[in-house]
Amino acid sequence: MSQDTNPYHIAIKQLEMAAEKIGLDPNITELLKHPKRVLIVSVPVKMDDGKVKVFTGYRVQHNPWRGAYKGGIRYHPKVDLDEVKALAMWMTWKAAVMDIPYGGAKGGVVCNPKEMSQGELERMTRRYTTMILDEIGPYKDVPAPDVYTNPQVMAWIMDTYSTIKGYAVPEIVTGKPVSIGGSLGRLGATGRGVAICAREACSKLGMSIKDARVAVQGYGNVGYHAAVIAAEMGARLIAASDSKGGVYNPSGIDPVKLREHKQQTGSVLGYPGAEEITNEELLTLDCDILMPCALESVLTEKNAAEVKAKIVSEGANGPTTPQADKIIYEKGILLIPDILANAGGVTVSYFEWVQNLHREQWTEEEVNQKLERKMVKAFNDVYQLAKKENVDMRTAAMILAVQRVAEAFKGLFP
Ligand code: NAD
Repeated sequence: MSQDTNPYHIAIKQLEMAAEKIGLDPNITELLKHPKRVLIVSVPVKMDDGKVKVFTGYRVQHNPWRGAYKGGIRYHPKVDLDEVKALAMWMTWKAAVMDIPYGGAKGGVVCNPKEMSQGELERMTRRYTTMILDEIGPYKDVPAPDVYTNPQVMAWIMDTYSTIKGYAVPEIVTGKPVSIGGSLGRLGATGRGVAICAREACSKLGMSIKDARVAVQGYGNVGYHAAVIAAEMGARLIAASDSKGGVYNPSGIDPVKLREHKQQTGSVLGYPGAEEITNEELLTLDCDILMPCALESVLTEKNAAEVKAKIVSEGANGPTTPQADKIIYEKGILLIPDILANAGGVTVSYFEWVQNLHREQWTEEEVNQKLERKMVKAFNDVYQLAKKENVDMRTAAMILAVQRVAEAFKGLFP
């Protein structure tokens, strides 16, 4: 039987599994399987050559029971509706696991930002924003960055929204530049959470993160910060990759120099003193901590048995298929699921939103300390539940999240 790697099907399977474990009312399970709203827009953009190109954009709002919708916007040629629906559902669980007052949403535009000029990206972002404007809002739906969107894109969204409203509305998006209301510590927050979870997992396994060998797939925002913060905790980065391939050096790679090399050359490939490896080889490398920080469904039935890491801390959303989950659990690997491991980003997004609503600015130290407390608490909540229920960490995180979301349900309107 061929493996189903459709992220939405996977998200539904994960929900069904958790719902069954807690004996959830089947009517609530049915409600939670479907996003509350799906918006599809055709975004016309005047390209630099004068021709108009129409891009497909999505905004999916999964569930609002615990608070305003919250979720990133992805620019990628392979964005599709099922992917955005899955990502929106995972956001609902993520906010619930972290116990922050948000529901789940996600957006995306099918485009290749690598082939677009800054002007084209700006016009596309501003037009997309106007087309989803009625459905977003500071108390309604608050977008954030995701793959190939960054603080600049968030600034365009805020400026477009504010221009139409007639006053500055920083709380409409998170992940903004600090100069216009972004939070200190936001850029590195997701990676910080991935590293904190890896450190906590090390202590549960009776090992130290000091000198632990780390391999990172996807050396972007999340992967880079996870590597740097793990290195600050004493770990050793031995491999990293991007869409072009990976590099490996068992004696250690300087994470900051590797990023400088990627910024200068466009890839981690060719980093001095390191051997080239494929993305596939990186995933099954002999290491202590594996951090998949690129895209979905990279750990599958085909390669899971070959994973040698003792800990997997999921920086990316949905990097592991359910079949792979089972194999990894049976191998005794401690896998920290995406809805916990990469929730540092949405947590500091929440801090950013709170600061904006109160027109305050917290110090980076304050933000990092609050994040540390939230991550450690959530990790331990999930870990203890996993032990109690004798299940893997993903199932435990899902049980916790689904229970919290279901608890907020007040019944059908009218
Ligand atoms: P990014 O665009 O900064 O980086 C993505 C990296 O992955 C790039 O280095 C790219 O070259 C690499 N990549 C792309 N395709 C690849 C492939 N096939 N194999 C290996 N590497 C590949 O994006 P990001 O913000 O770091 O997001 C990465 C992942 O983390 C995504 O799954 C995203 O949904 C998830 N995530 C991001 C945040 C956040 O705050 N940015 C929060 C939660 C989850």
